[in-house]
This record gives sequence, structure tokens and C-alpha cells, in this order.
Amino acid sequence: MAQGSQSAPAPVPLIDLVAQYQTIENEIQDAVQSVFANQSFVLGDLVTEFEQDIAKYCDNRHAIGCASGTDALILALMALDIGPGDEVITSPFTFFATASSIHRVGATPVFVDIEPDGFNLDPTKVEAAITKRTKAIMPVHLFGQTAEMDPLWRLAVEHKLAIVEDAAQAIGAAYRGRRTGVLGTVACFSFFPTKNLGGAGDGGMVTTDDADLAKRLRSLRVHGDVGRYEHIEVGLNSRLDALQAAVLQVKLRHLDDWSDSRRANAERYEKLFAQYGLTDIATLPPTLPDRTHVYNQYVLRVPGDGRRDALLSSLREQEIGAAIYYPKALHQQTCFASLGYQLGDFPEAEKACREVLALPIFAELTNEQQDRVVEGIANACGRLGSNTIRRAA
Ligand SMILES: *Cc1c(COP(=O)(O)O)cnc(C)c1O
Repeated sequence: MAQGSQSAPAPVPLIDLVAQYQTIENEIQDAVQSVFANQSFVLGDLVTEFEQDIAKYCDNRHAIGCASGTDALILALMALDIGPGDEVITSPFTFFATASSIHRVGATPVFVDIEPDGFNLDPTKVEAAITKRTKAIMPVHLFGQTAEMDPLWRLAVEHKLAIVEDAAQAIGAAYRGRRTGVLGTVACFSFFPTKNLGGAGDGGMVTTDDADLAKRLRSLRVHGDVGRYEHIEVGLNSRLDALQAAVLQVKLRHLDDWSDSRRANAERYEKLFAQYGLTDIATLPPTLPDRTHVYNQYVLRVPGDGRRDALLSSLREQEIGAAIYYPKALHQQTCFASLGYQLGDFPEAEKACREVLALPIFAELTNEQQDRVVEGIANACGRLGSNTIRRAA
């Protein structure tokens, strides 16, 4: 090591599930132990209890556990009888599963551009995309902030469309005081470990207030069985494990506190960016009117040719966690080439792909870690003395 060099600061991860686990280790261990003591692993009483917990949390009537967020979307579309020949309107700027679920049931994803502030479906552009084949709108509550639902509800009523919420990143987020899970005909959640309510593996949930849809979803997740090995349609094998329910039930009790911490971290970023004079370099994510944001991701925009990528590589060199969600819009994915979209069709989504950068926002992020993130950005932008830039060894 060079003489006089300071000890390297500790890396800051983008997300730290170990730090979270350490705060709830005993509760999780007890819950997991009881599942092993009972040896009931798939569906069962604990899953039913957790479904009721989620229904209560969202203030909806029914919650149906399944194997993943992707399956939740597929099951929801199946339960709505959406299939070949049908169109579903959604965002091209989202995780792949939003559109792949539509494709998987044989329907056609129809993309509509996003509004730039919240990164969600631009409601003013949805009506023009509605055709005779449109069956549903699938808004995504991206990064933990809900889409603008009011105009979507009006369009859904007017054109008799279902709304399928992709709430995978937004459990606990609210629009006009109502949480995700009640903002559509059905809502789909993911319990992938990095979501705000993350399990110890894959898991998902569908919520609805419609008793018939709920009944159909319960049958569809067990091969379409309607009881005593009677099948009137072919469903999936997509069930929630008791082990996941046990872990998630514990974590649900902490979810609101964790969301508060994420919001506090976001507020602190605002202060730090101003303090370091960085507000001209990056646009920070706004909280839109009528929303409660839960910050599954804290996503900046770094405009300017190549500047986002330069900042990302500098942060990586400084061992500061940062990532791009998402580098490529879905209309540009090879597997959707047959949909016939071109580069330039969704300029806002494409621009977002070039500008976005996610920073650490997890609940256990310490002030020291957060300071390091912002100092790292200042370093990268030459806003601090060059002697403070930490070079890779
Ligand atoms: C994570 C995610 C999904 C899929 O959930 P899985 O549980 O990983 O299958 C769907 N949509 C969005 C927006 C997501 O972030």
C-alpha cells in the first residue's frame, strides 16, 4: 500500500438484505421453526392467514397467494379470460415480466409511452391505444410510486376494460389515500427478495374484491381443480409455500416502518444533493400529487450524452452500489420484435433508459453510508478536491 494512503472506506451496497435480516433474525427463526414443526409446506393454514393479512393490509376482500409476481400477473389475466386475440395496454418501461405475462397467455402487449416524472404510463396517451380488442390496462407502479389512476379508471369504465395493477414494486404505496391492491380490478404483488416485502425465495399474491374472480384464481393456481380432482379448465401449478408465508408474515409487521425509513432516506438525499451542489447534475425523483411513495428504488435522472454511464462506472470504481433500471425498453427487446415497434416509438421510455440511475435507499442505510454515496457522486463530477477521489487499487 502506498505510504500515507488512508484506509479504504467500506463499500456501500445497493441493497443489504443481511442488515435487514439481522434486525429480525429471532422472529424469522421462530416462524420458520414452526413451519418445520408442522411439516405443512404448500398452501395450508399459514398461507391462508398470510393471505388475510395482505387483504387487510391493502383493504381488499380477497388475496390469493401464488408462486411469483410473474405468476400473479399470468393468473390475473387468465382469470379475466384474456388470451389470444386480446390486447392489454401497458408500459414499455418496466421489468420484463409485465409484458411477458401478457404474451404468455397468448394476448398482445400494446405499449403506451410513460410520463417522465413518475416513469409510469402516461394516461393522456392511453385512449388513443384502445381498440376493439383491448381487454385491460396494466399500469405498473414503478419504483414504488403509483401510476396516475384517476384517468385510467375513467377510461376503464367508459370502454369496459379491466385494470390489472402491476404492484410488484409498490406494496404499501398509496394513491389518494388508498393503497395498491385496491386500485384496479385485480392487483399483483411480488415477494421476490429485493422487493419491499421480500421472502426467502419466490412468491406472489393477487388481490381483488370480486368473489368470482377470487374463486377462479384459487382454482387456477392448483391446475384448475375445482375440488375432488374435478377440472373444468387447465390452470397452473403456482402456490405459495408456508415457509414463504411465515417469513413474509413476520416482515409485513415491519413493512410500514421500513417504508418510513426509505422515505426519510429520500428526503435526506434531497438535502445532501443541495448541500453538495449537485442538483444541476441529476434530477431527483419527485413525489407526485396524491401519492405515497415507498421507494422500492430511488432513481435519479442524469441527462447529457454518456454522463449517466460515466457516473455509474465512477461509482462502481468507488465501490458504491448503483444500477440501471432499466437499460432497454421492452419494445426494443428481441423477443418482442414481432410486435413491430421501432426505435423512436416511445421517446420518453427510451430517454429514461439512457438517463436513469438507482442509488441505495434500503431502510437500514446509515447516514454515513448515504454521505459516502453523495460524496462519491460529487467526486465523480469533480465537485470535490481531486485528492479525495478514491482510485481503484
Ligand atoms: C419483480 C417484478 C415482477 C415479477 O415478479 P417476480 O416475483 O420476480 O416474478 C413483475 N413486474 C414488476 C414491475 C416487477 O418489478
